[in-house]
Amino acid sequence: MEKVTEIFGSKVFDDRIMKARLSSEVYQSLKKTIDEGTELDLSVANAVADAMKEWAVENGATHFTHWFQPLTGITAEKHDSFISPAPDGRVIMEFSGKELIKGEPDASSFPSGGIRATFEARGYTMWDPTSYAFIKDKSLCIPTAFCSYSGEALDKKTPLLRSMEALNKQALRILKLFGNTDVKRVNTSVGPEQEYFLVDKAMFDKRKDLIYTGRTLFGAKPPKGQEMEDHYFGVINPRVAAFMSELNEELWKLGILAKTEHNEVAPAQHELAPIYATTNIATDHNQLTMEIMQKVALKHGLCCLLHEKPFAYVNGSGKHNNWSMATDTGVNLLSPGETPSENAQFLLFLCAVIKAVDDYQDLLRIAVATASNDHRLGANEAPPAIVSIFLGDELTAILEAIEQDKPYEGTEKTTIKLGVNVLPKFPRDTTDRNRTSPFAFTGNKFEFRMLGSSNSISCANIMLNSAVAESLKIYADRLEGAKDFETTLHEMIKKTIKDHKRVLFNGNGYDESWEREAEKRGLLNYKTTPDCMPHSIDEKNVKMLTSHKVFTETELKSRCEIMLDNYCKTVIIEASTMADMSKREILPAVEAYIGELSEIAKNKVKAFGSANVDYEKSIVEKLSLLCTKMMLKTNELEKELSAIKSIGDIVKESYEIRDKLIPLMGELRKVADEAETMTASKYWPFPTYGDLLFGVK
Ligand code: ADP
Ligand code: MG
Repeated sequence: MEKVTEIFGSKVFDDRIMKARLSSEVYQSLKKTIDEGTELDLSVANAVADAMKEWAVENGATHFTHWFQPLTGITAEKHDSFISPAPDGRVIMEFSGKELIKGEPDASSFPSGGIRATFEARGYTMWDPTSYAFIKDKSLCIPTAFCSYSGEALDKKTPLLRSMEALNKQALRILKLFGNTDVKRVNTSVGPEQEYFLVDKAMFDKRKDLIYTGRTLFGAKPPKGQEMEDHYFGVINPRVAAFMSELNEELWKLGILAKTEHNEVAPAQHELAPIYATTNIATDHNQLTMEIMQKVALKHGLCCLLHEKPFAYVNGSGKHNNWSMATDTGVNLLSPGETPSENAQFLLFLCAVIKAVDDYQDLLRIAVATASNDHRLGANEAPPAIVSIFLGDELTAILEAIEQDKPYEGTEKTTIKLGVNVLPKFPRDTTDRNRTSPFAFTGNKFEFRMLGSSNSISCANIMLNSAVAESLKIYADRLEGAKDFETTLHEMIKKTIKDHKRVLFNGNGYDESWEREAEKRGLLNYKTTPDCMPHSIDEKNVKMLTSHKVFTETELKSRCEIMLDNYCKTVIIEASTMADMSKREILPAVEAYIGELSEIAKNKVKAFGSANVDYEKSIVEKLSLLCTKMMLKTNELEKELSAIKSIGDIVKESYEIRDKLIPLMGELRKVADEAETMTASKYWPFPTYGDLLFGVK
């Protein structure tokens, strides 16, 4: 491997390259666009496009593509070659500013939830100059936003950028009140920790469930699972190590700050964490990371599973969204600071988050809702579907002291007056690392842990940024008009703690008693996607999101429909795959084994007259009974599948799937898994849990 410092960012048209290849006039103008969002004029765009093309061609690129994130959750690209015919029959490589700024992918098959009537099905892509262009597979990729002609967002990036803008606007108002007039921009930053499984490609190929749905739909519990916890941070096996090493190299070339990697608790499960970046860039990078993980795995004869729950009985995979707000002057607004003024400002931003999370619990839950993440939320290791905040004991005690005007134990028994006293030092809670909290304060950032491993991180951050922007707006409105800033601030913080302390919970989120306690506190507990998704268009949510110009009402309605449609389709594909595997693989395999046992029994009797065939008989009887049950359950499942097709209303359909189809899938699986435990290994038609989980050698 070449030196890391040399390969890092070698495929990225980053600031270094821009400085080196653009005239200083063009560079300054582009920089202004990147930093302050000013409009770019066409002559500058032309110069940038030309430099990009020259650089890309020198680095082996032949094509360019606008790279975007439609509502399917993955990334999309449409490649155009740079070539253009010259009059003398040769070709020249061309790329114009217009092509850089705007593209028309004619992507009429992407979900739009009815926004684009078919006669005007085109959407267009717009360059996001704040995220660097890069080279992937001989194509210059230009990060873009994807919109309809009437301006509605058809992707996940547009609302993300809008939500960042909303937060920036409100945070700047607050900072001004604290006298921080040098700050020009507040950005949110994110470091997403990505979990995944690796399985052997040859085994993967033998399982239709993995191929069609990304998760196992059948599989008896293996003799060994994760109970020994011997995989967690364990020595990385050489094949996986080779994969990780190549993955890092590929990510580094793309300027992605892949930093830590380790084995997770479940066998075959791993994690990769990058160094944090500005939210839209972190989002682009996470999408790329997921894509490259899958590609590199194949080169090592492996398959990378990004599904939230590829296996029953062991942990699922999530994505921890480490989130904070920072100024362009380098101040982390979630860092407590040293002086009374810094402390007060920190507490206000902290309270803004607490209020946001409580007021918009539903939106945070909705942001991570997919059919696949439903398996994880509330299950083994995953945080429950209830949104609550962990602050640690010290910070909680400080807030309580402020709320109740009572002395905090850590100080010299004085009550804390904001803006006057220095906050007592509270240690960054290292003991607990409360893994069960869905939203944990970890010293200078919040870690939102409900995201599924395959989720785009945009949705969660759109909602988080918007909800916090709303809290900040309410605070700024009040503070700007206040006669006595200090007193108003103190009272506002007290009121926030009082009104929203129900969302603070430092205990064990996996404990059953928490569900009852949360209910008493009036916290929401939407267990499934159909339960929560329709609330995305509740009046309070529409009002907040439209007032900050993050979504229009049309966009919200269409997104709700798309997400529910996606839920239904996902489960329907799973159920159909189960029926197919049951009828064409499992039943024939079990029957073949029954046949062999019967044959053996018959031969024994033939050879010895009255042989003892109790063993064969008992297995044959049990398995025959299970086959009958499996057949009946499969029939029921298929009947239900056709019933669902005729419902016609997406909300009703999602309820039917939640209440009937998913339980039926569970029943069929139970019977098949029982048959697996009694069928000779050589008859089982596909790799078992044991094979898959311990098969990467
Ligand atoms: P821990 O292990 O305590 O959770 P780390 O410092 O290892 O914390 O960080 C975990 C993830 O959080 C990393 O991806 C890291 O880049 C990210 N992170 C750290 N600081 C911030 C911050 N201020 N804003 C956003 N993400 C952050
Ligand atoms: Mg962490």
